[in-house]
Order: sequence, then C-alpha cells, then structure tokens
Amino acid sequence: MNPPPPEFSIVAPVYNEAATLDELVRRLMAVCRDTGRTFEIVLVDDGSEDDSPSRIHHACDRYPEVVGVFLNRNYGQHAAVFAGMAESRGQVAVITLDADLQNPPEEVPRLLAEIDRGADVVGTVRQNRQDTLFRRLASLLVNRMVQRATGVAMHDYGCMLRAYRRPIVDAMLQCRERSTFIPVLANAFARTTAEIPVAHAPRRAGRSKYSLTGLLSLQFDLLTSISTFPLRLLSLAGLAIAAGGMGFATLLVILRLVYGASWAAEGVFTLFAVLFVFVGAQFIGLGLLGEYIGRIYQEARGRPRYLVHHIRRRNKKRAGAPAATIKEF
Ligand code: UDP
Ligand code: MG
Repeated sequence: MNPPPPEFSIVAPVYNEAATLDELVRRLMAVCRDTGRTFEIVLVDDGSEDDSPSRIHHACDRYPEVVGVFLNRNYGQHAAVFAGMAESRGQVAVITLDADLQNPPEEVPRLLAEIDRGADVVGTVRQNRQDTLFRRLASLLVNRMVQRATGVAMHDYGCMLRAYRRPIVDAMLQCRERSTFIPVLANAFARTTAEIPVAHAPRRAGRSKYSLTGLLSLQFDLLTSISTFPLRLLSLAGLAIAAGGMGFATLLVILRLVYGASWAAEGVFTLFAVLFVFVGAQFIGLGLLGEYIGRIYQEARGRPRYLVHHIRRRNKKRAGAPAATIKEF
C-alpha cells in the first residue's frame, strides 16, 4: 500500500549536476525535516550524461523521502520540472528549485510560510544576482515584457525557486502545450501571488546549461506562452499596410486622371497602383490567416477554460453550524 501523500513536494530538475547533487540532497533533507511537516523530494534526471543518475539512485536508497524520475533523454529544464510535478504527490504545495545550488535550499521554509499566508504562487527575487551582465540585462527585458502582457507584476521570472499551491500545479498539468514557461503559466491560474527576496549563489561546479540559442528559444517559449499577440500584430500590421497600399493606389489613379499619362510615366504609376492593391489584399489575407492560427493555437494548448478558486454555498441553518461553507480549492 502506498504511504499517505506528503504535505509538500520539492521538485528539482537535474542535468549533469553530479558535483552538487549529494550536497543538495543533504541540505534539502535537513531543511525539510526542520519544517516538521511531511514532504518528498522529487529529483528529475533530464537525461544526464554524467554520474547524476547514480547519485539520484543513491539518494533514493538512503532517504525514503527522495523520489527519482529518470527521463530517457534531455528535454530541457521546464519539461523536466513538469515531469517532476506530474509525479509529485504533495497535497498542499510544490516547490521547485535548481539543482546547482544557485537557489539555496534554506529558503524553502520562507516559501512555505507565504503559502500558509494564502498565496497561490510564491515567486522570488534574486538579491545580488550572481550571473553575467548579459544574463541580467536579458532578464530585465523579459520581466518588463511579461509584466506588460500579463499584468501580473512579478520582478524575477527567471528564478525557478518558486512555490505553487496544488490546484495551480494540477491546472498547469492539464495544459497540453509543449513549449511552456512555468512561472508565467502559473500566474495565469493564480489569484493571489507573493514575492520574497532570496539569496542567489554563484554556480560552484559545471557551467550554465543555457547557451545563447538556448536562452533565445526560452524567450520565444515565454513570448508565445504569454499570448498570441505577435500573431495579432501580423493582422494589425497587415490591415495598416493594406489600407496604406489601397489609399496610395487610389491617389495614383486620381493623379493620373488629373495630370495625364505623361505625369504617370506612361502607365508605370498605374502599374504601381495595381501592385499596391494586390499587396494590400495579400496582407489582409495573411492577417486573417494569423487570426485563425491564433485560435488554433489556443485550442491546441487545451488550457483549462477557468479555474474556480473557491465556492461558497449557503447551508441550511443548524444549531451551532456556520451559516455558509467555503470550499477552498
Ligand atoms: N536543467 C535541466 N535540463 C536542461 C538544462 C538545465 O534539467 O536541459 C537544470 C539544471 O540541472 C539546473 C537547472 O535546470 O538544475 C537550471 O540550469 P542552469 O543552472 O544551467 O541554468 P541557469 O542557472 O544558468 O539559468
Ligand atoms: Mg544555475
């Protein structure tokens, strides 16, 4: 028989982190035990080529709270976190963090405290961030963009030390889209969010797994997971160009009629006018296609239509019973 599900789960994606794994597990175990709650630690091996899988097996042998999830190949950090969330059984919350010890495990109790205070999603802001200037600038840009698009003001979307309440995790797991950026997706379902400052340590071993192209593809995941606004932009720009082109074509025809054929370079301008009409029509067509593709994308993502936060029902009056019940999610 399976043991009862723990109160919270820790999920850490692991890709070639053998150098820090033992320490990660040791520190996580100490911190989680100190909380006095039941917990599990889900380590997801994202197709590592180093010793990481055997370190995870070792941790599983040693601690009953550790769960190992082994992917057949490398899928990327966010896919690995999803795999870990799908296996996690924490009833109250799931906390994600990086396995390279850049996110100190000692911050876990503070995240849990925010969840206890009622936050659905707890984000973190890295203090004195230990990354290159380029990475920090890229982050700044992305954060501004997401804030504008989602209206949720969070300052640091790049930090994966985060806590999510169970219903938020379940809602995220229902989404079928492949390219997802977890912190942004979570905010789509959160009612109340909190943010706390956390320490950030430099990478002690190995290198960042993100190359420039990796980062770029992550930014595109982020952009497309926020909205279909870029597609909408296509139709808006299409309409504007089409209107401009048609207007210009009409003007050319009028000028041709007023000033005669010699002004219009013996038909060349008229040819231009015809061309502008066609270009305009093409852009309208493109814009329409964009609208349809946007809708197909929304359908294909299969996100839950809505998420009920809580339900309040009036009960029949009974002596001593509260007048209404609130079913928290
Ligand atoms: N990671 C992963 N799969 C990947 C790349 C990274 O599971 O393909 C994990 C990695 O092991 C680490 C976390 O994601 O635990 C963050 O990766 P990294 O430290 O390289 O990113 P950075 O801190 O530079 O943003
Ligand atoms: Mg890192």
